[in-house]
Amino acid sequence: MIEVPSPLRLRLDSEALVANWRWLASQSNGAACGAAIKADGYGLGARAVIAYLAAAGCRDFFVATWAEAAAAMPLPEGVSLSVLHGVGASDMVAARTLPARPVLNSVEQVARWREAGEGRPCDVMVDTGMNRLGLRVEEAVGGALDGLSIETLLSHLASADEDSDQNARQLAAFQALRQAIPARRYSLANSAGVCLGGDYAFDLTRPGLALYGGTPRSEAEGHIRQVVYPETRVLQVRSVLQGEVVGYGATWTARRDSRVAVANMGYADGFLRCHAGSCATATWQERALPLIGRISMDLIAFDASDARAIEEGDWLALDYDLPSTSARCGLSQYELLTGLGRRFDRIWI
Ligand SMILES: *Cc1c(COP(=O)(O)O)cnc(C)c1O
Repeated sequence: MIEVPSPLRLRLDSEALVANWRWLASQSNGAACGAAIKADGYGLGARAVIAYLAAAGCRDFFVATWAEAAAAMPLPEGVSLSVLHGVGASDMVAARTLPARPVLNSVEQVARWREAGEGRPCDVMVDTGMNRLGLRVEEAVGGALDGLSIETLLSHLASADEDSDQNARQLAAFQALRQAIPARRYSLANSAGVCLGGDYAFDLTRPGLALYGGTPRSEAEGHIRQVVYPETRVLQVRSVLQGEVVGYGATWTARRDSRVAVANMGYADGFLRCHAGSCATATWQERALPLIGRISMDLIAFDASDARAIEEGDWLALDYDLPSTSARCGLSQYELLTGLGRRFDRIWI
């Protein structure tokens, strides 16, 4: 098969990924620090993320589905993988075959695992107030889990990225669960939960966003490094005369004779139309090029009037610092990562 390079690439900073993991690990009173790698490692590529973090000492990884678990195989030596969505009826073959544990989320899933799990260890999610996934507290303490071999008992914080009373309520509920339900380890905190302090760490934390350069709370500012740098090649440089318009709907009018760089990227790659009109820029040789006009499916235009030497084939670096980009365009930092499309070559540096 021939290698066809893409005109879009993500430069992925493996040192920053590992540094972010080490910082998160250092915040947790000696608790182990795992990694959420669902949605293909938040769009970076789960297998590469596992490899870099396992080499740094991370031992606990979390995917959403069994299809994601299968795609992560083979795992490095000594690494454990948990499947957050648990086991549906159609998952049992995968769950018995793959070296991964389900996170059981309901009495139905617990019954399924008792029947067909062959006594193997599992993880269990108990809902402490989010009402998304997990057994209700009264089910969990009421005998539904008796006799199960629970490796990790989990719960998930709903509002850890805010200063909400819900955090303390969920913490208290989880502390009570720890007294009531035997498990080898207990785990509550995502990235934002890590920032809430050591009380939230228990035995194992499960950050995702902050590993990949997201800043979940102000406590992480200055500690979390950018990991993902999207770049796109210029497809054409054109002259646009004063008064002419650019793109669908003619939303941009040249106020002077301009040079416009049209590049190989669009909303199909995750650059949704909300980026336009949000002062988004690309950088070419340390010069900022403003995004202009409406974003097309595969194309995006920048005002390159102040970059006279720019030419077809040059790479543009998109401004993609997650917190500031999120504040500008209104997409969450999570959406900015997971929306990055399949057309980017993912190049680890
Ligand atoms: C996604 C997820 C995480 C990681 O959350 P971040 O906010 O990305 O750190 C942790 N635990 C569970 C159950 C999750 O679904």
